[in-house]
Amino acid sequence: MGKHKNVNRWEKYDEDGNLEGKQCPRCDSMLAQHGNRDTCGKCGYSKIQK
Ligand SMILES: [Zn+2]
Repeated sequence: MGKHKNVNRWEKYDEDGNLEGKQCPRCDSMLAQHGNRDTCGKCGYSKIQK
């Protein structure tokens, strides 16, 4: 931990692509997976996975 230089935590999840417990870039809540989408139940953010 702490050895990454300036790594944005969202980019960290994007690179892996399969990590569970993704966080919403808007409000920091956990994203729920619905089919091919990650959805935030708090702010309504959603991201379609490719
Ligand atoms: Zn959110």
